[in-house]
Amino acid sequence: MNTFLERCQQIVGADFVLTDDAEKLSYVTDYRQRFIGRALAVIKPANTLEVAAIVKLCAEHKVAIVPQGGNTGLVLGSVPDQSGNAIVLSLLRLNQIRAIDAINNTITVDAGCRLTQVQDAATSIQRLFPLSLASEGTCTIGGNLSTNAGGTAVLHYGNCRALCLGLEVVTAQGDIWDGLRGLRKDNTGYDLRDLYIGAEGTLGVITGALFQLFPLPQSQLTALVALNSVADAVALFHLARSNSKDTVLSAFELISSFCLELVGKHFPAIRQPTLAAHPYYVLIELSSQEPEANSVTALENLIELAMEQGIVHDAVLASSLTQSNALWQLRESISSAQAAEGKNIKHDISLPISNIAAFIDATDAQLQKQFSGCRMVTFGHLGDGNLHYNVSAPLNDSHDEFLAQQSAVNRVVYDSVAHFCGSISAEHGLGALKHDEILRYKSPVEMQLMRQIKQALDPHNIMNPGKVVTPF
Ligand code: FAD
Repeated sequence: MNTFLERCQQIVGADFVLTDDAEKLSYVTDYRQRFIGRALAVIKPANTLEVAAIVKLCAEHKVAIVPQGGNTGLVLGSVPDQSGNAIVLSLLRLNQIRAIDAINNTITVDAGCRLTQVQDAATSIQRLFPLSLASEGTCTIGGNLSTNAGGTAVLHYGNCRALCLGLEVVTAQGDIWDGLRGLRKDNTGYDLRDLYIGAEGTLGVITGALFQLFPLPQSQLTALVALNSVADAVALFHLARSNSKDTVLSAFELISSFCLELVGKHFPAIRQPTLAAHPYYVLIELSSQEPEANSVTALENLIELAMEQGIVHDAVLASSLTQSNALWQLRESISSAQAAEGKNIKHDISLPISNIAAFIDATDAQLQKQFSGCRMVTFGHLGDGNLHYNVSAPLNDSHDEFLAQQSAVNRVVYDSVAHFCGSISAEHGLGALKHDEILRYKSPVEMQLMRQIKQALDPHNIMNPGKVVTPF
C-alpha cells in the first residue's frame, strides 16, 4: 500500500494525499454525524487528468474509490465504510468555471464548483441557473449531478438531470469521456450522460458538466398561505396551475404547523409572519418575465379565488425581496430546527400528487398506532410530489431509544409509499442507507438491469462499493 500512496503523491503532490486521522475526519464523517467511516487516504486531485491518473492507479491496485464533493449527501453515499480499504476522492480542487456562453445559453463548469458559484456566474451575465437547495453554499455540481438533486425550483425548471446537456467523466478504468456537448438534440445511441447522472459515484467520476441557462425572471412573488388540510394544499396546487397564465408557478412548498413551531422554538430570531394558526401552510412562488405589478395581481387573484373556494383561510404576501427571503428562510430552516429538536428518522419520498393527502392520513394513523406520540415533521416540494416525511421521538422520550426503532418506522412508511405508488427516494438517492431497502421495492428485473449496468461499467466494483447496488 505504501507504493500505492507514494504513486498517489507523485500524481497530485504530497500535500494533497491526506493520511493523518485528524485531517481525514471531516471527509469520513457523514453530514448528519451519525456515521464515521475509515479511509486509506483522502486524495485531492487538481484537474481531470489527475483524477484519471488516480482512478487508473486504483483500478490497477483494486482500491475502492469514494468520490466526494461537498459531503452534504444524506444517505451515506459520500463517506467510506469502516473497512479502511477505500480512498476518498475529493473533487473540491476542481473548482473552475470553464466557460459561459450567452449565445447558446450554456455554462461549462468543473465538478467541484459549489452550487452558489455556478448560480453567481450565471447571474453575472444576466442568466439564471435555477438549481437551488438549502445546502447550496457547500454542495458541489458533481454531487448535485450524482444525486440528480432536486430542490425548490424543480416545479418549473426540472431536476439537475433536466438542466444538464453534457458531461465529462473519468470512467472506472481511468479513461476520460468528453461528453461536454451543448446540443439540445443528440440521438446518437445510448444516453451515457443519463447513466452517470444519479449514479451516486458508482459508475465513474464526473469531472465537468455543461448546463443550460435561462433568462432571469423579471419578478418573483412569494406568499405564505394557511390551510386546513393536505387535501386543500393539493386543491390549491391544481388551482394555481390552472390560473397562472403569464406567470409561472415556480415553487409550491408544503409546511406543517409543527415545522413552523420547531423553527420558532429553535430559531426565535427568525421572524414568523402573523397568520392564524392552521394545521398546514404552503409557500407559493410565482415568477414572470412581466413587470412585478402583473405578478402581484396574479398572486392576489389566485389567493382571493382560493379563499372564495374555502381552500385558503389566511395569507401573507411578501411585498419586498427582504420579506420574500424571510419567508424562504422559514422554509429552509426546517431541517436545522428539526435537528436541533433531537435525532429523527428522515424519509425523502415521492408520490403521485393525487395520492399525497391519502398517504399522509393513512401513514400518520399507522405510525401513531405503532409508535404512540411520535411527532411528524412533514414538509417538502408538494408541487413535485416530493415529501420530507420525517418522524421525531415523542416529546420527552429518549431520542436514541426512538432511533433504535428506525427499521420498524421505515417499514411502515416505505410500505405505505409503495402502496400509494411512490418512490422511497425522491431526491437524495440510495447511498449505503437504502442499499438493502430498495431490494424490497424494485422489481427483480429492474434490480438485475441495474446490476448488469454496474458490472459492465465497473467490472471490478471499485467505484463506491456498497452504495446503490452490488453487482454480484
Ligand atoms: P456529496 O455529499 O459529496 O456526494 C453525494 C453523492 O454523490 C455520493 O454518492 C458521492 O460519492 C457522489 N459524488 C459526489 N461528487 C461526485 C463526482 N464528482 N462524481 C461522481 N460521484 C460524485 N438534496 C436535494 O436534492 N434537494 C434538496 O432540497 C436538498 N436539501 C438539502 C438541505 C440540506 C441542509 C442538506 C444538508 C442536504 C440537502 N440535500 C438536498 C442533499 C444534498 O445536499 C444533495 O444531495 C447534494 O446534491 C449533494 O452534493 P455534494 O456535493 O455535497 O455531494
